[in-house]
Amino acid sequence: MKEVTTAFITGVGGQDGGYLAELLLARGVEVHALVLEGESTPDVPGAVRTHVGDVADVAGTRALLLDLAPDRVFNLAAISSVAQSWSEPDRTALVNGTAAVGLLESAYRVAERTGRQVRFVQASSAEVFGQPPSSPQDESTPVRPINPYGAAKAYAHLMVAVYRGRGLHASSLVLYNHESPRRPAGFVTRKITRTVAAIATGADDAPARLVLGNLDARRDWGWAPDYVAALAAAADAPHGDDYVVATGVAHSVRDFVAAAFARAGVSDWEGLVEVDPALVRPADATELVGDASKARTTLDWTPTVDFAGVVGRMVDADLALLR
Ligand code: GDP
Repeated sequence: MKEVTTAFITGVGGQDGGYLAELLLARGVEVHALVLEGESTPDVPGAVRTHVGDVADVAGTRALLLDLAPDRVFNLAAISSVAQSWSEPDRTALVNGTAAVGLLESAYRVAERTGRQVRFVQASSAEVFGQPPSSPQDESTPVRPINPYGAAKAYAHLMVAVYRGRGLHASSLVLYNHESPRRPAGFVTRKITRTVAAIATGADDAPARLVLGNLDARRDWGWAPDYVAALAAAADAPHGDDYVVATGVAHSVRDFVAAAFARAGVSDWEGLVEVDPALVRPADATELVGDASKARTTLDWTPTVDFAGVVGRMVDADLALLR
Protein backbone atom coordinates (compact mmCIF):
# COMPACT_ATOMS: atom_id res chain seq x y z
CA MET A 1 0.00 0.00 0.00
CA LYS A 2 1.21 3.49 -0.85
CA GLU A 3 2.27 5.42 2.20
CA VAL A 4 -0.50 7.64 3.51
CA THR A 5 0.56 11.25 3.43
CA THR A 6 -2.54 13.36 3.77
CA ALA A 7 -5.78 12.97 5.67
CA PHE A 8 -8.80 15.24 5.76
CA ILE A 9 -11.06 15.23 8.83
CA THR A 10 -14.45 16.86 9.12
CA GLY A 11 -15.81 17.49 12.60
CA VAL A 12 -12.30 17.72 14.04
CA GLY A 13 -13.56 19.94 16.87
CA GLY A 14 -15.67 17.15 18.31
CA GLN A 15 -14.63 14.53 20.84
CA ASP A 16 -13.53 11.99 18.22
CA GLY A 17 -11.93 14.46 15.83
CA GLY A 18 -9.28 15.52 18.32
CA TYR A 19 -8.39 11.94 19.20
CA LEU A 20 -8.27 10.92 15.53
CA ALA A 21 -6.03 13.88 14.65
CA GLU A 22 -3.66 12.92 17.49
CA LEU A 23 -3.49 9.33 16.28
CA LEU A 24 -2.84 10.25 12.63
CA LEU A 25 -0.24 12.90 13.50
CA ALA A 26 1.60 10.35 15.64
CA ARG A 27 1.80 8.20 12.52
CA GLY A 28 3.37 11.01 10.53
CA VAL A 29 0.29 11.84 8.48
CA GLU A 30 -0.31 15.42 7.37
CA VAL A 31 -3.71 16.25 8.81
CA HIS A 32 -6.05 18.79 7.29
CA ALA A 33 -9.36 19.53 8.90
CA LEU A 34 -12.50 21.53 8.45
CA VAL A 35 -13.57 23.83 11.28
CA LEU A 36 -16.63 26.01 11.49
CA GLU A 37 -16.14 29.74 11.54
CA GLY A 38 -15.54 30.80 15.14
CA GLU A 39 -15.60 27.20 16.41
CA SER A 40 -13.62 26.64 19.59
CA THR A 41 -11.25 23.69 19.15
CA PRO A 42 -9.38 23.24 22.45
CA ASP A 43 -8.62 19.55 21.84
CA VAL A 44 -7.33 19.90 18.28
CA PRO A 45 -3.52 19.59 18.15
CA GLY A 46 -1.70 22.67 16.84
CA ALA A 47 -0.11 20.64 14.03
CA VAL A 48 -3.48 20.16 12.36
CA ARG A 49 -3.93 22.42 9.33
CA THR A 50 -7.38 23.83 9.78
CA HIS A 51 -9.57 25.24 7.03
CA VAL A 52 -12.64 27.29 7.84
CA GLY A 53 -15.75 25.86 6.23
CA ASP A 54 -18.88 23.82 6.73
CA VAL A 55 -19.65 20.36 5.33
CA ALA A 56 -23.16 21.64 4.69
CA ASP A 57 -21.54 23.91 2.06
CA VAL A 58 -20.99 21.05 -0.35
CA ALA A 59 -19.54 23.17 -3.16
CA GLY A 60 -17.06 24.97 -0.90
CA THR A 61 -15.91 21.74 0.75
CA ARG A 62 -15.56 20.06 -2.65
CA ALA A 63 -13.32 22.82 -3.97
CA LEU A 64 -11.13 22.45 -0.87
CA LEU A 65 -10.93 18.66 -1.21
CA LEU A 66 -10.06 18.83 -4.90
CA ASP A 67 -7.32 21.28 -4.01
CA LEU A 68 -5.87 19.24 -1.11
CA ALA A 69 -6.38 15.86 -2.82
CA PRO A 70 -6.04 13.84 0.41
CA ASP A 71 -5.47 10.06 0.55
CA ARG A 72 -8.00 9.70 3.34
CA VAL A 73 -11.26 11.40 4.17
CA PHE A 74 -12.78 10.87 7.62
CA ASN A 75 -16.28 12.23 7.99
CA LEU A 76 -16.94 12.98 11.64
CA ALA A 77 -18.93 16.16 11.17
CA ALA A 78 -22.44 15.83 12.53
CA ILE A 79 -25.16 17.22 14.67
CA SER A 80 -23.87 14.83 17.27
CA SER A 81 -26.69 14.32 19.67
CA VAL A 82 -30.03 12.62 19.28
CA ALA A 83 -31.49 15.17 21.69
CA GLN A 84 -30.45 18.07 19.46
CA SER A 85 -31.75 16.32 16.33
CA TRP A 86 -35.29 16.46 17.72
CA SER A 87 -35.12 20.25 17.91
CA GLU A 88 -33.31 20.67 14.55
CA PRO A 89 -34.43 17.78 12.30
CA ASP A 90 -33.99 19.66 9.02
CA ARG A 91 -30.49 20.83 9.82
CA THR A 92 -29.67 17.30 11.00
CA ALA A 93 -30.77 15.91 7.63
CA LEU A 94 -28.48 18.36 5.87
CA VAL A 95 -25.39 17.96 8.06
CA ASN A 96 -25.62 14.25 8.92
CA GLY A 97 -27.07 13.06 5.61
CA THR A 98 -26.67 15.24 2.54
CA ALA A 99 -23.26 16.63 3.51
CA ALA A 100 -21.86 13.09 3.85
CA VAL A 101 -23.01 12.34 0.31
CA GLY A 102 -21.33 15.55 -0.85
CA LEU A 103 -18.08 14.33 0.70
CA LEU A 104 -18.39 10.87 -0.83
CA GLU A 105 -18.82 12.43 -4.25
CA SER A 106 -15.87 14.76 -3.58
CA ALA A 107 -13.64 11.83 -2.58
CA TYR A 108 -14.76 10.01 -5.72
CA ARG A 109 -13.84 12.99 -7.89
CA VAL A 110 -10.45 13.44 -6.19
CA ALA A 111 -9.68 9.78 -7.00
CA GLU A 112 -10.87 10.25 -10.57
CA ARG A 113 -8.86 13.39 -11.10
CA THR A 114 -5.62 12.22 -9.49
CA GLY A 115 -5.75 8.57 -10.48
CA ARG A 116 -4.91 7.72 -6.85
CA GLN A 117 -7.02 5.73 -4.41
CA VAL A 118 -8.90 7.85 -1.90
CA ARG A 119 -10.22 6.05 1.17
CA PHE A 120 -13.38 7.31 2.82
CA VAL A 121 -14.47 6.53 6.37
CA GLN A 122 -17.89 7.47 7.70
CA ALA A 123 -18.53 7.72 11.43
CA SER A 124 -21.96 6.14 11.56
CA SER A 125 -23.98 5.35 14.64
CA ALA A 126 -25.88 2.61 16.42
CA GLU A 127 -28.88 4.92 16.10
CA VAL A 128 -29.30 3.69 12.50
CA PHE A 129 -30.75 0.52 14.05
CA GLY A 130 -33.45 2.43 15.91
CA GLN A 131 -35.33 0.13 18.26
CA PRO A 132 -33.65 -3.11 17.13
CA PRO A 133 -35.60 -6.37 17.27
CA SER A 134 -32.74 -8.23 18.96
CA SER A 135 -29.51 -7.70 20.87
CA PRO A 136 -26.65 -7.58 20.23
CA GLN A 137 -26.81 -5.94 16.81
CA ASP A 138 -24.34 -6.63 14.05
CA GLU A 139 -23.81 -5.72 10.40
CA SER A 140 -26.86 -7.76 9.35
CA THR A 141 -29.29 -5.92 11.67
CA PRO A 142 -31.94 -4.01 9.69
CA VAL A 143 -31.34 -0.27 9.38
CA ARG A 144 -34.56 1.18 10.78
CA PRO A 145 -33.97 4.45 12.64
CA ILE A 146 -36.51 6.02 14.99
CA ASN A 147 -35.22 9.57 15.38
CA PRO A 148 -34.03 12.37 13.06
CA TYR A 149 -30.40 11.77 13.98
CA GLY A 150 -30.55 8.07 13.15
CA ALA A 151 -32.48 8.62 9.91
CA ALA A 152 -29.93 11.11 8.60
CA LYS A 153 -27.04 8.86 9.63
CA ALA A 154 -28.81 5.95 7.93
CA TYR A 155 -28.94 7.81 4.64
CA ALA A 156 -25.19 8.50 4.80
CA HIS A 157 -24.51 4.89 5.83
CA LEU A 158 -26.46 3.53 2.85
CA MET A 159 -24.75 5.94 0.47
CA VAL A 160 -21.32 4.69 1.61
CA ALA A 161 -22.38 1.28 0.28
CA VAL A 162 -23.57 2.89 -2.95
CA TYR A 163 -20.15 4.49 -3.48
CA ARG A 164 -18.45 1.22 -2.61
CA GLY A 165 -20.46 -0.18 -5.50
CA ARG A 166 -18.93 2.51 -7.70
CA GLY A 167 -15.45 1.39 -6.70
CA LEU A 168 -14.61 3.85 -3.92
CA HIS A 169 -12.73 2.42 -0.93
CA ALA A 170 -15.43 3.49 1.52
CA SER A 171 -16.30 2.20 4.98
CA SER A 172 -19.08 3.01 7.39
CA LEU A 173 -18.43 2.32 11.06
CA VAL A 174 -21.52 1.85 13.14
CA LEU A 175 -20.17 3.32 16.34
CA TYR A 176 -21.91 2.58 19.62
CA ASN A 177 -21.81 5.22 22.36
CA HIS A 178 -18.22 6.11 23.12
CA GLU A 179 -17.21 8.48 25.84
CA SER A 180 -14.26 10.30 27.36
CA PRO A 181 -13.53 13.32 29.57
CA ARG A 182 -13.89 15.37 26.35
CA ARG A 183 -17.52 14.40 25.94
CA PRO A 184 -19.78 17.47 26.03
CA ALA A 185 -22.23 17.65 28.93
CA GLY A 186 -25.20 17.29 26.59
CA PHE A 187 -24.51 13.57 26.66
CA VAL A 188 -25.75 11.66 29.64
CA THR A 189 -22.37 10.23 30.68
CA ARG A 190 -20.62 13.56 31.03
CA LYS A 191 -23.70 15.15 32.53
CA ILE A 192 -23.57 12.47 35.21
CA THR A 193 -19.82 12.60 35.87
CA ARG A 194 -19.72 16.40 36.06
CA THR A 195 -22.68 16.62 38.37
CA VAL A 196 -21.50 13.76 40.56
CA ALA A 197 -18.04 15.34 40.86
CA ALA A 198 -19.62 18.68 41.81
CA ILE A 199 -21.83 17.05 44.44
CA ALA A 200 -18.99 14.90 45.82
CA THR A 201 -16.62 17.85 46.24
CA GLY A 202 -19.33 20.18 47.55
CA ALA A 203 -18.51 22.66 44.79
CA ASP A 204 -20.11 26.11 45.24
CA ASP A 205 -22.27 25.74 42.16
CA ALA A 206 -23.07 22.06 42.77
CA PRO A 207 -26.72 21.31 42.00
CA ALA A 208 -28.71 19.75 44.84
CA ARG A 209 -29.73 16.86 42.60
CA LEU A 210 -28.76 15.01 39.44
CA VAL A 211 -31.79 15.45 37.18
CA LEU A 212 -32.10 12.89 34.39
CA GLY A 213 -34.56 11.38 31.89
CA ASN A 214 -34.90 7.69 31.14
CA LEU A 215 -32.82 5.77 33.70
CA ASP A 216 -33.70 2.39 32.22
CA ALA A 217 -32.20 3.01 28.76
CA ARG A 218 -29.37 0.58 28.17
CA ARG A 219 -26.33 1.56 26.14
CA ASP A 220 -23.05 -0.04 25.15
CA TRP A 221 -20.59 2.58 26.41
CA GLY A 222 -16.99 2.35 25.19
CA TRP A 223 -13.84 4.46 25.31
CA ALA A 224 -13.67 7.08 22.53
CA PRO A 225 -9.96 6.68 21.65
CA ASP A 226 -10.62 2.98 20.98
CA TYR A 227 -13.35 3.88 18.49
CA VAL A 228 -11.11 6.34 16.70
CA ALA A 229 -8.51 3.56 16.33
CA ALA A 230 -11.22 1.52 14.57
CA LEU A 231 -11.83 4.40 12.13
CA ALA A 232 -8.13 4.47 11.27
CA ALA A 233 -7.99 0.68 10.95
CA ALA A 234 -10.94 0.68 8.53
CA ALA A 235 -9.06 3.09 6.28
CA ASP A 236 -6.00 0.82 6.39
CA ALA A 237 -7.95 -2.36 5.56
CA PRO A 238 -7.57 -3.79 2.06
CA HIS A 239 -11.24 -3.21 1.21
CA GLY A 240 -13.95 -0.82 2.28
CA ASP A 241 -16.75 -2.39 4.35
CA ASP A 242 -19.29 -1.78 7.10
CA TYR A 243 -18.42 -2.55 10.72
CA VAL A 244 -20.17 -2.48 14.05
CA VAL A 245 -17.83 -1.01 16.69
CA ALA A 246 -18.91 -1.73 20.26
CA THR A 247 -17.81 -3.39 23.49
CA GLY A 248 -20.64 -5.94 23.47
CA VAL A 249 -21.67 -5.06 27.04
CA ALA A 250 -24.71 -2.92 27.86
CA HIS A 251 -25.42 -1.02 31.06
CA SER A 252 -28.37 1.12 32.08
CA VAL A 253 -28.18 4.85 32.73
CA ARG A 254 -28.92 3.91 36.36
CA ASP A 255 -25.83 1.63 36.37
CA PHE A 256 -23.75 4.54 35.11
CA VAL A 257 -25.08 6.79 37.87
CA ALA A 258 -24.35 4.16 40.54
CA ALA A 259 -20.81 3.56 39.24
CA ALA A 260 -20.09 7.29 39.06
CA PHE A 261 -21.24 8.01 42.63
CA ALA A 262 -19.29 4.98 43.87
CA ARG A 263 -16.15 6.20 42.14
CA ALA A 264 -16.55 9.65 43.68
CA GLY A 265 -16.99 8.10 47.13
CA VAL A 266 -20.67 8.96 47.61
CA SER A 267 -22.50 5.92 48.96
CA ASP A 268 -25.91 7.30 49.83
CA TRP A 269 -26.93 8.69 46.45
CA GLU A 270 -30.47 7.41 45.71
CA GLY A 271 -32.06 10.59 47.09
CA LEU A 272 -29.73 12.73 45.00
CA VAL A 273 -31.21 11.58 41.69
CA GLU A 274 -34.44 12.92 40.26
CA VAL A 275 -36.28 11.99 37.06
CA ASP A 276 -37.70 14.85 35.00
CA PRO A 277 -40.27 13.57 32.47
CA ALA A 278 -39.35 16.49 30.20
CA LEU A 279 -35.94 14.84 29.69
CA VAL A 280 -37.50 11.56 28.55
CA ARG A 281 -37.31 11.45 24.73
CA PRO A 282 -40.27 11.04 22.35
CA ALA A 283 -38.71 7.75 21.17
CA ASP A 284 -35.71 6.11 22.79
CA ALA A 285 -34.14 2.73 22.08
CA THR A 286 -34.49 0.47 25.11
CA GLU A 287 -31.18 -1.25 24.53
CA LEU A 288 -28.37 -0.69 22.07
CA VAL A 289 -25.53 -3.20 22.31
CA GLY A 290 -23.23 -4.20 19.50
CA ASP A 291 -21.45 -7.35 18.40
CA ALA A 292 -18.11 -6.19 17.00
CA SER A 293 -16.91 -9.67 15.97
CA LYS A 294 -16.34 -8.57 12.39
CA ALA A 295 -14.22 -5.57 13.43
CA ARG A 296 -12.33 -7.79 15.85
CA THR A 297 -11.56 -10.34 13.16
CA THR A 298 -11.11 -8.19 10.07
CA LEU A 299 -9.60 -5.06 11.58
CA ASP A 300 -7.89 -6.78 14.51
CA TRP A 301 -9.69 -4.28 16.72
CA THR A 302 -10.34 -4.71 20.45
CA PRO A 303 -11.72 -2.27 22.99
CA THR A 304 -9.09 -1.59 25.67
CA VAL A 305 -11.25 0.11 28.33
CA ASP A 306 -14.40 -1.46 29.83
CA PHE A 307 -17.46 0.18 31.40
CA ALA A 308 -15.89 0.58 34.86
CA GLY A 309 -12.80 2.04 33.23
CA VAL A 310 -14.78 4.57 31.21
CA VAL A 311 -16.79 5.72 34.25
CA GLY A 312 -13.66 5.83 36.42
CA ARG A 313 -11.64 7.92 33.97
CA MET A 314 -14.48 10.36 33.40
CA VAL A 315 -15.24 10.83 37.10
CA ASP A 316 -11.54 11.20 37.95
CA ALA A 317 -11.11 13.82 35.22
CA ASP A 318 -14.10 15.81 36.47
CA LEU A 319 -12.92 15.58 40.08
CA ALA A 320 -9.49 16.78 38.99
CA LEU A 321 -11.04 19.79 37.24
CA LEU A 322 -12.72 20.80 40.49
CA ARG A 323 -9.82 20.22 42.86
P1 GDP B 1 -27.17 9.04 22.57
O1 GDP B 1 -27.37 7.58 22.82
O2 GDP B 1 -26.24 9.32 21.45
O3 GDP B 1 -28.44 9.79 22.47
O4 GDP B 1 -26.37 9.57 23.87
P2 GDP B 1 -26.90 10.29 25.21
O5 GDP B 1 -25.75 10.22 26.13
O6 GDP B 1 -27.43 11.65 24.91
O7 GDP B 1 -28.12 9.39 25.73
C1 GDP B 1 -27.91 8.07 26.12
C2 GDP B 1 -29.16 7.56 26.82
O8 GDP B 1 -29.31 8.23 28.07
C3 GDP B 1 -30.48 7.79 26.06
O9 GDP B 1 -31.25 6.62 26.14
C4 GDP B 1 -31.15 8.92 26.84
O10 GDP B 1 -32.59 8.87 26.77
C5 GDP B 1 -30.69 8.60 28.25
N1 GDP B 1 -30.77 9.73 29.17
C6 GDP B 1 -31.37 9.72 30.38
N2 GDP B 1 -31.30 10.91 30.98
C7 GDP B 1 -30.62 11.72 30.12
C8 GDP B 1 -30.23 13.09 30.18
O11 GDP B 1 -30.49 13.81 31.15
N3 GDP B 1 -29.52 13.58 29.12
C9 GDP B 1 -29.22 12.80 28.02
N4 GDP B 1 -28.51 13.32 27.00
N5 GDP B 1 -29.60 11.51 27.94
C10 GDP B 1 -30.29 10.98 28.97
